[in-house]
Amino acid sequence: MFKKERTESEELRVLRALNFRMDLKEKDKQYYANLLKGYEGEVMFDEYLRRLQIESLVLNDMLLELNHSHFQIDSLLISQEYLHLFEVKNFEGEFYFEDGKFKMLNGTEVKNPLLQLNRNESLFRQLLNSYGVKIPIRTYLIFINPEFTLYQAPLDRRIIMPTNLNRTITQLNNEKSALNLAHDRLSEKLLSSHIVKSPFSNVPQYEYSHLSKGVFCTNCGTVMEVYHGQNFTCKSCTTAENTRQALIRQIQDYKILFPHNKISTNVVYEWCGGVFPKKTIRHRLQENFSVTGHGQWSYYE
Ligand SMILES: [Zn+2]
Repeated sequence: MFKKERTESEELRVLRALNFRMDLKEKDKQYYANLLKGYEGEVMFDEYLRRLQIESLVLNDMLLELNHSHFQIDSLLISQEYLHLFEVKNFEGEFYFEDGKFKMLNGTEVKNPLLQLNRNESLFRQLLNSYGVKIPIRTYLIFINPEFTLYQAPLDRRIIMPTNLNRTITQLNNEKSALNLAHDRLSEKLLSSHIVKSPFSNVPQYEYSHLSKGVFCTNCGTVMEVYHGQNFTCKSCTTAENTRQALIRQIQDYKILFPHNKISTNVVYEWCGGVFPKKTIRHRLQENFSVTGHGQWSYYE
C-alpha cells in the first residue's frame, strides 16, 4: 500500500515553468534535465512497487534529517521483517566501475551511487535508533533504465540491474509479511519527520518583468498564439492541447513561480500574453479557485 505517493518537487515545477519563459543557462538546463530524468525513473520504479502483493507500506520521496544532515530516500518499503531502502538511478548509456569509481564510458566520473546509498543507510539507521526502533535495513541501488549498461560491475547484491527488477519484485512477493500496529506507528513517525520544504534549491534568480508571457507548447516550448475551437495546435510540432487545460497550466505556473502574488483576471490575462479573452479567464478562475473580494477587486487562491 502506498502511504505516500510521489509528486513532482517544487524545484522541478519551478524549473519547468522557467524553462518556457526565460533563457536558462546551460548549467541550469542540465540540472533541470537531470531532475526530470531522475523523477521519470522514480515514477517507473513506482510501477514495480505497485506489483507487490505482500502486506507492506510504501513511503516515496522521503526527505529526512538527522543532526543537521539531510538525506533523501527515493522509496522506502516497510515489510514485516525489514525496512527496504531504494535508491533509484535513471542512468542511460554505458558506464563502468574502476578502482571504486563510477564512470561514463568516455571517462567522465559520476558520483558513486553506492557511496550515496551507504550514507543514506547510515543516517537512516541512526534515525531509527533515535526512535528506539530496531529493524534490519536492506538497501537496493536500482538502475531503472533498460538502456543502461554497467561494465565491471562489482559483485554487490545491492545493485539491481534493469534485467533483475522483475526477479527482485518476485522475491519480495515470496516473502511472508504481516503488518501490525508497530509498523503503522513507524510509518506515521517517519511521515511526520518528512521535511516538506527542501532547504536545497538550485533555482536561478528570476523576475516577472524578465519572463516571456504567453502560452507555451508542452512538447517543444513554442509560443502558441491562436486557438481554434477547443484546441491549441502548436505550429512547430503540431502537438494539440485543450485550451481549458492550457489556461489552467499557465495559472499553475504563475502560482508556483510567484506564490506570494495575488491572482486576478488581469494578472492572468497579461501572463498568458493576451491570448485568452478576460471573460474566459474569469470563468476558469471561478471554476477552479476560491474567490475573495468583488468585481475588479476579486482575487483567486
Ligand atoms: Zn510544439
